[in-house]
Amino acid sequence: MGKPAQKQVIADPERPISALKGVGPSLTQKFEGISIVTIEDLIKHLPNRYEDRSHIVPMKDIKIGEQALVQGEIVDSTVSFGRKRSLLITITDNTEYLKLRFFHFSKGQQSAFQVGTIIRAFGTARMGNKGIEFIHPEYRVYVEEPPAPENALTPVYPLTSGIGQGRLRALTDQLLKMDWTQSNHLPYETLFYLHRPPPEAKDSDIEAARSQIALEELTAYYIAMRIQQKGRLDQTTVPLPSSLKLGRVLLNELGFKLTKSQQEVLTQVLKDLAKPTPMLRLLQGDVGSGKTIIAAFAAIRAAEQGRQTAVMAPTEILAEQHYLNFSAWLEPLGIPVVLVTGSQKASERKKTEQSLADGTTLVAVGTHAIFQKSVVFKKLSLTIIDEQHRFGVHQRMALVNKGFIPHQLVMTATPIPRTLTMALYGNMDVSVINELPPGRQPIDTRAISNERRGEVVKAIRNTIAKGQQAYWVCPLIEESAQLNLASAGATAKKLASSLGLKTVGLLHGRMSNKEKSTIMADFKSKKIPLLVATTVIEVGVDTPNATLVVIENAERMGLAQLHQLRGRVGRGDEPSHCILLYSTPLSEKSRGRLQIMRDSTDGFYIAEKDLEMRGPGEVAGTRQTGEQQFRVANLGTHAHLIPAAIDKGEKLATTDQKGADALLKAWGPKQIHHLGV
Ligand code: ADP
Ligand code: MG
Repeated sequence: MGKPAQKQVIADPERPISALKGVGPSLTQKFEGISIVTIEDLIKHLPNRYEDRSHIVPMKDIKIGEQALVQGEIVDSTVSFGRKRSLLITITDNTEYLKLRFFHFSKGQQSAFQVGTIIRAFGTARMGNKGIEFIHPEYRVYVEEPPAPENALTPVYPLTSGIGQGRLRALTDQLLKMDWTQSNHLPYETLFYLHRPPPEAKDSDIEAARSQIALEELTAYYIAMRIQQKGRLDQTTVPLPSSLKLGRVLLNELGFKLTKSQQEVLTQVLKDLAKPTPMLRLLQGDVGSGKTIIAAFAAIRAAEQGRQTAVMAPTEILAEQHYLNFSAWLEPLGIPVVLVTGSQKASERKKTEQSLADGTTLVAVGTHAIFQKSVVFKKLSLTIIDEQHRFGVHQRMALVNKGFIPHQLVMTATPIPRTLTMALYGNMDVSVINELPPGRQPIDTRAISNERRGEVVKAIRNTIAKGQQAYWVCPLIEESAQLNLASAGATAKKLASSLGLKTVGLLHGRMSNKEKSTIMADFKSKKIPLLVATTVIEVGVDTPNATLVVIENAERMGLAQLHQLRGRVGRGDEPSHCILLYSTPLSEKSRGRLQIMRDSTDGFYIAEKDLEMRGPGEVAGTRQTGEQQFRVANLGTHAHLIPAAIDKGEKLATTDQKGADALLKAWGPKQIHHLGV
């Protein structure tokens, strides 16, 4: 391969991508949407698969269902009027004929397809009614001798908010032409390789290169956590020892006894709070294990010292539910509680903010709105974050990097396998509630095919007849032709009519928060026997009288999500049921997932299985927020690298500060360098 004689541009990783040719404001913005701001961000944006366009496949060797690069002469071009009008090009390389079919085509295109012209096309072979064809292949027409095919595998980049593959290839081409030798903190040779592997690269070669990057990334993350952990232990904060014993008062009023596991965890939390070192504790507990009350006791402890607590939930529904619980528990003790959400009226919000700023309110429950600049706490001492698996690693870091360090309690209902706990939460102490409150009945889980919906309707009828309530979970709100998913609105109507119900509740993401909370309140107060909802009810919602949950299109959902959804029932003393409705035919994988759900209600078991089956996106990840966990590391396929990453991280951090810094610079969570930790 001859090198171009031209002088190479030295790569400056910190330059914004707008420095590249062809990147204007609109593209910059699109890139920003996927967290690509600098040239370095872009070079770290790696393909997730490749297409082989490195050699031309003789047409006689094309296999149905496979992709191929072909080249030949156009011998015919006709517009055919079949079921749908299409432009049909016939080409040949003298070994065989092949058709290229275009349903959408312009006059210009049509005239470019002159008989006798050479065309090169890349597509997937399928059997058409007139022989093998490519539908809408990528193609190029040549008037002169075509150049040799690309000397590398063609990258396919992960979904990129409307930035085309061609564009990405052109931009990464620019990057790969630069001189990166001065960017030693980056494994640029491996990155180059992954952007454009040689044609002969095997899957195992590519995976080895990815693993190398993944190891660096995991190591950097480990080092970042270690720094943070150390930093925290050197910090001081306001200790919160017991004084007024208000917790005891609540304990007596509660109406239930804490489980042994809750007691142990509570002791750990209260002990941490009494120290002048800021607590950072992860509280894991399966759905329904009773984490909220632990949070309430912690808030009481802070309040006894006249200090404030911020409780953050991922959705408004959940924030409101917590607000109701916290008010019911704390206000009788003389501890005022307020709600802070984005949808509050300005006047209301102002009053709330005032009371937090002057310290008259001690507990604020809210959504992420609670972390907005306008919300100032006079004497914040404790932050509690619920259902934290919804936050990504970067946000996770940001939360603990906020100037004054309060005590922090982070709660998650998604059990995290041990290896992952080490990798992701090494900077935290971990408590686990490992039992459910007594009297809980195991949830009877069944998988039922869509064709037997009638039985499901019967089950709902029985549930309602017993004075109990049911959820029906639909995956999407609007009919989507492509995916043919059920529409919540239509489902609600249908169910209302087949059950003869006047009111069926409907809850979906497009509703205003006010509407949502009205519906939730009506459901809680049993005014509504059946609630049809999208997956907005996924986390935390607690209505003990609901004993049946029907999950539609369960075959499309991840295990963690199914477990969460199922956890909406089984919260009272009555036996509960979960029906997983699926459409046939079931793939092997989906069948396996549904089987696991039927086998177990143990969140830890399910999480381990989930990790085995699909990587940890759902286990510890942030699928819902769309925030990426790691750039390259996939905790499912790279879990085996974790011990090595911890080892290497320890070594670097203790003996090679420079090496550690370089790794952090390349792969560390962004906040770390922004805050100059
Ligand atoms: P999660 O851990 O999923 O957040 P919650 O805190 O919402 O669970 O608790 C689920 C339900 O169990 C709530 O109605 C709560 O009041 C109740 N609960 C919590 N602890 C106990 C207990 N020790 N005994 C009985 N019920 C409890
Ligand atoms: Mg909860």
